Amino acid sequence: MAGALTTQTQYETVIGLEVHVQLKTQTKLFCACSTQFGVEQNQNTCPICLGMPGVLPVLNRQAVEYGILAGLALNCGIALITKFDRKQYFYPDLPKGYQISQYDLPVCHDGYLEIMGQKIRILRAHLEEDAGKLVHAGAAGLAGSTHSLVDLNRAGVPLLEIVSQPDMRSSEQARLYAETLRNIVRYLGVCDGNLEEGSMRVEANVSIRPLGSETYGTKTELKNMNSFRSIQKAIDYEVARQTELIDSGERVIQESRLWNEATGTTASMRSKEEAHDYRYFPDPDLRPLEISPEWVERIRQAMPELPLQRLNRLQEEFGLSEYDASVLVELKELGDFFDEAVEHTSHYKALTNWLMGDITAYLKNNHKNLEDTRLTPKNLALMVQMVDSNQISSAIAKKILPDLIETGTAPDMLVKEKGLIQNSDESQIQQICQQVIVENAEEVAAFRSGKEKLFGFFVGQVMKASRGTANPEVVNRLMRELLKG
Ligand SMILES: [Zn+2]
Repeated sequence: MAGALTTQTQYETVIGLEVHVQLKTQTKLFCACSTQFGVEQNQNTCPICLGMPGVLPVLNRQAVEYGILAGLALNCGIALITKFDRKQYFYPDLPKGYQISQYDLPVCHDGYLEIMGQKIRILRAHLEEDAGKLVHAGAAGLAGSTHSLVDLNRAGVPLLEIVSQPDMRSSEQARLYAETLRNIVRYLGVCDGNLEEGSMRVEANVSIRPLGSETYGTKTELKNMNSFRSIQKAIDYEVARQTELIDSGERVIQESRLWNEATGTTASMRSKEEAHDYRYFPDPDLRPLEISPEWVERIRQAMPELPLQRLNRLQEEFGLSEYDASVLVELKELGDFFDEAVEHTSHYKALTNWLMGDITAYLKNNHKNLEDTRLTPKNLALMVQMVDSNQISSAIAKKILPDLIETGTAPDMLVKEKGLIQNSDESQIQQICQQVIVENAEEVAAFRSGKEKLFGFFVGQVMKASRGTANPEVVNRLMRELLKG
């Protein structure tokens, strides 16, 4: 038609996440081998997890309880009967030739998480065993390696795979969903949630469709994102790539794509198998598992505090702002530390400021976690009390903080050792002030002729001369009087 305008198509992003969390059990999912990380290759193996013929798997009760606990925290229904299925595929890190997973009766189903004010539905969460690991050896990296070695320590370690519905509409929402999930499993104590070490692995199914369309576009599956930031970046890249393809009249191919952190791009890995390729069937060695409502109820009763509950409690009980509370909730150690410290002081805001400010900065600069230091909640609370009661200035507190963190010495001892107790003795401070005035005649003259800004300079000189111990309030007052002349 003449005069018709071609307008740029607007697309909507559709994202679903599949998250594997490694459950923190002592032993593997179907044998008594240890799950300990970082031991010698193939040390944690036995005929069962090596996939020898004629052996029988025995289900780990703790893994099932962790799965149920996570499911309850994700608002899921818990199956009354669940079962285990064999997922057949061949790969050198899978000696059995199949992985024991759950196909049509997962332990958890139909939950949700609320992210950015929107319910993200969770389709299912099921238990499965991890595969082993290939170590590409001989030369530097995969490309130049001459051979591969198999390490089966990880084979049989329990995983919970949490599958969302394609309900997310932005990369930011997907990142927040993954972060929220990580926090929940860490609060539950069922998983470390460490993306870099692989104890939590996130895969994103990403597609785009014209805005307003009801049908989904062809999706690609993104893998190999080792941080929350890279989840967001990989999705952004993929959305741009798909948009360009479709706008230029091409088609998106359904496939798995690997995120490359160095280049900031995704690359095709293999075309995605359909579910039936795996030829799932019930594992004949494992009976279906009945889960009684009483068992679920016992697990529900023992549920620890979740991030959202702590967020509300910190605001209600201690009057923290939503922002402060969210920082303490975000990093569980920080919140745990706060909860212990408030037993020793009621200066909640000051405590929070120290934790969010100087302490977080110290940890960042020194690449440490809070639990790797010798700082105790009691010592921090004590220091806050000393500042509040004017025993030390906050400048002194800042000065002794590294020692408090590194040595674990109580703050009152530290201050005594270093002779840093705050001095409020007026005659002594007056003496120092007078000394500073005598030594800085030029500045005094300038101040008296109207250069008021110099006042800070005089106070600074007094603080320096007293090695920071002079009570700043007293210094301010006396200095002002003396400078009047
Ligand atoms: Zn084993």
